[in-house]
Amino acid sequence: MQKRLLLIGGGHSHVEVIRRFGLNPEPGVAVTLVSPDRHTTYSGMLPGYIAGHYRFEDCHIDLETLCRSAGVTRVAGTVGGIDLQRRIARCADGTEYAFDVVAIDSGSTPVIAGIPGAAQHGIPVKPVPAFLDYWTTLRAAARSASADLRIAIVGAGAGGVELALAMHNRIRADNGHAQFTVISDGPTLLAAHPAGVQRRFSAVLRERCITLRLNAPVQTATAEGLVLGGGEMLRADHVIWVTGAAAPAWPRECGLLTDAAGFIVVNAHLQSPSHDCVFATGDIAAMPSTPRPKSGVYAVRQGPPLTENLRRALRGGTLLEYHPQRRALALISTGDRYAVASYGSFAFGGAWVWRWKDYIDTAFMQRYRAAHIS
Ligand SMILES: Cc1cc2nc3c(=O)[nH]c(=O)nc-3n(C[C@H](O)[C@H](O)[C@H](O)COP(=O)(O)OP(=O)(O)OC[C@H]3O[C@@H](n4cnc5c(N)ncnc54)[C@H](O)[C@@H]3O)c2cc1C
Repeated sequence: MQKRLLLIGGGHSHVEVIRRFGLNPEPGVAVTLVSPDRHTTYSGMLPGYIAGHYRFEDCHIDLETLCRSAGVTRVAGTVGGIDLQRRIARCADGTEYAFDVVAIDSGSTPVIAGIPGAAQHGIPVKPVPAFLDYWTTLRAAARSASADLRIAIVGAGAGGVELALAMHNRIRADNGHAQFTVISDGPTLLAAHPAGVQRRFSAVLRERCITLRLNAPVQTATAEGLVLGGGEMLRADHVIWVTGAAAPAWPRECGLLTDAAGFIVVNAHLQSPSHDCVFATGDIAAMPSTPRPKSGVYAVRQGPPLTENLRRALRGGTLLEYHPQRRALALISTGDRYAVASYGSFAFGGAWVWRWKDYIDTAFMQRYRAAHIS
């Protein structure tokens, strides 16, 4: 009897699972991908797209084409729960998908739940498609504005800082009018990176007249702007939320073992310890034995071991252990075809670092063009 493998979310691990099942199909297995959008963003190139260095198709994988060439069925939908007893995933519109084995790689969204008004005012950077629609409108508004639009970016991690620099670069190239503020509740920007990286980005923000507000936790978002700790009102016309990673409620609600923040706990096999037919990778997964930052690099690295373990789970074989690398190289761009490398305690930058990043990113995307699968 045919087995059913269900993939929830077209994230960085699942595109590799699809590619590998295409190259080497698993006999007797029907694979289905459920994803709300036809295109999935490669996050490493998102700031470059915003800055105007890439076209949409350069940094988006066309899931429909990828799936078709790999013999995988793609269905449009957003999973909102799983009946773990009956092994059925349910989408927001009521559609159901039965499975024998399910893998979840549906990412995360910025943390805004604890900030009153945040859901009504401003836009989270994820889901990316909604953010990109917003960005198109914002660019047009900046072009036609007679005075500077006040844009606040909440979150001073690599995503927030890169995004601010990319938006600034593009609006300047458009001859638009905008003034940027990057806000963090912590004492430093890029807290996960070494002091050399922090210094370089502080200097770049200063040079571009982008205001950096540290130790400034956002208390409330209103139509006028953001109320910061101490009651100060920071006036803002547009607010972009790039605040860490939050999990959806449905994995916990359906009975999967999750961590305190709601991310799906997995063991070294990338498998749920509470339900062995469930695998999870990328931002949505938490590996308590080897915790790592929520970063696309780890989701990409999990693709090959996930593929292998899905095959083994479907065949009833012994699963392999996956041990994530201790640290990852981060290449963080400054919005102007220049990038800074961050690795352990090392920091170095240059236009050549951006070209190196561009080479790595372009090669990654090339793997998922249909011609390279069949
Ligand atoms: C501006 C910015 C820049 C970044 N740059 C980098 C970088 O250079 N390097 C790096 O390592 N990390 C970077 N990150 C972090 C990176 O975006 C995430 O860690 C990475 O995207 C996580 O990958 P993922 O596979 O878990 O999920 P995602 O890439 O987020 O993909 C999840 C997919 O699942 C779909 N989905 C979501 N919910 C559901 C559902 N309920 N049902 C079905 N499908 C669903 C989504 O539509 C999406 O296509 C950046 C983040 C930001 C915000």
